[in-house]
Amino acid sequence: MSGIHRRDVLLATAGFTAAALAASNPAEAGDPSFMNNVPDPALSGNELPTFKFALDKSEGKVVGNSFGKEATVTQLPISKGIAGVSMRLEPGVMRELHWHATAAEWAFVLDGRVRTTVIDPQGRAETNDFEVGDVWYFPRGHGHMLQCLGDKPCHFILIFDNGYFSEFGTFSITDWMGHAPKPLLAKAFGMPEGAFDAFPKEEVYFARGPLPPEDAAAPLQGWKLPPETHKYRLLAQAPHGVYPGGREWRVDSGRFPISKTITGVVLDLEPGALRELHWHPNADEWQYVIDGQINVTLFGSHGRFRAETLDKGDVGYIPQGYGHSIENVGDTPARILIGLNAGIYEAIDLSQWIAGNPADVLATNFGQPAELFGKFPERDVFLSDGKGPG
Ligand code: MN
Ligand code: MN
Repeated sequence: MSGIHRRDVLLATAGFTAAALAASNPAEAGDPSFMNNVPDPALSGNELPTFKFALDKSEGKVVGNSFGKEATVTQLPISKGIAGVSMRLEPGVMRELHWHATAAEWAFVLDGRVRTTVIDPQGRAETNDFEVGDVWYFPRGHGHMLQCLGDKPCHFILIFDNGYFSEFGTFSITDWMGHAPKPLLAKAFGMPEGAFDAFPKEEVYFARGPLPPEDAAAPLQGWKLPPETHKYRLLAQAPHGVYPGGREWRVDSGRFPISKTITGVVLDLEPGALRELHWHPNADEWQYVIDGQINVTLFGSHGRFRAETLDKGDVGYIPQGYGHSIENVGDTPARILIGLNAGIYEAIDLSQWIAGNPADVLATNFGQPAELFGKFPERDVFLSDGKGPG
C-alpha cells in the first residue's frame, strides 16, 4: 500500500472528507508524524472520556508485601502517551535486572530508600542511592535494577513515556537466560554448562536476598561512570516557584540533562488554591495525587468539558494540548506529582494569554466593554490561593 492510500484510509476512518484532506495540509506521505494529526478515536466523541484511575486501589502484582500497580491504556484508555506504576519493595527485595524495549523510565521516591544500577550502550554503569523526593531517569532500552535499601520498605512512582508500555511486559534477565539453551550460555560466558543448572527457569521479577551493603560495591568491571548522571534530587532543591497558595518544583532536561523525554513536577496546593487553566503545547500530562483531594478539569474543544475529583493514590491524564486546571478541594494541603512526556517544559496559562492581548481585542472577542479588561491580571498568575490573584 502506498503512503497516499494509507493516508486516505486513515482519514476515511477518522471521518474526514476529501475537502478536509485538502485543507489539512497533511505531512509528506509516509511520514509517521502524520499519525499525530489524525484525531484519536478515544478523544473524538461527543463527550470526553474519563481521565481518572484509582491506581493505589487497584490490584496489580503482589508478592508478599511488595507490589507493582500499573496504569496503562488497559486501565485508563485515554493515557496513550504515558503509563505509570506505583511500586513498593520490602527490605531485601529487588526489582530484578531488566530493560524496557518501548519506553524510558522516570521515577520519584515517595518513601524509604532505593538503590539502582543502570548500564548504557557504551558499557558505562552508574549505581545510585535515592531518598524521598529524589528522581531517576533511564533512557529507553538501558538495562537497570531497583532495590530496596535499608531495613524499611520503599515506595516510588514510575512514569513511562509510552501509554502502551506495561511494567509486566519488560525484558527481565532471568526470563531471557532461563529460556536460552545452556550450551549457548556456556559458550557466551566461557563457563561450564553446569554453572547455569540452578539458575531460575522463569522470570523472577521481584528477587529476594539479604539487605544490600550500605556502601555500594564496585561493579565487576570496576567503576566506569557515564558522563551524565541518572539521579536528580528534586525536593532537595528550593522550590522553583513560590506563590500565594502553593509552590512548584520542576525538573526537565535543562536541569537534568539525561532526562530527554520526561519533565517532572511536584505541585503543592493549599486548601482552596488553584493551578490555573492552562495547556501544554508539546506534551501529555500524567498526574498522581501524593496527598490531599483535588478537582481536575479538562477542556477538549466543541464544548466538551469534564471534571474529576482525585484522591490520594489516584491518577489523572491530560492529552497534549488539552486545557486543564487543578484545584485543591479538600481541607488539607495537597501534593501532586506530575509527569510530562517532553524533555523541555512548555505551558501557556490562560491569564498569560489574556494579558498578552490588548483590551480592544478582548472587548471585541467577548462583546464586553474594554474597561473590564483593565481589571484583569496584567501578568501570568500560574497559581492562586482561595481568594484568587490579588
Ligand atoms: Mn524499569
Ligand atoms: Mn498542566
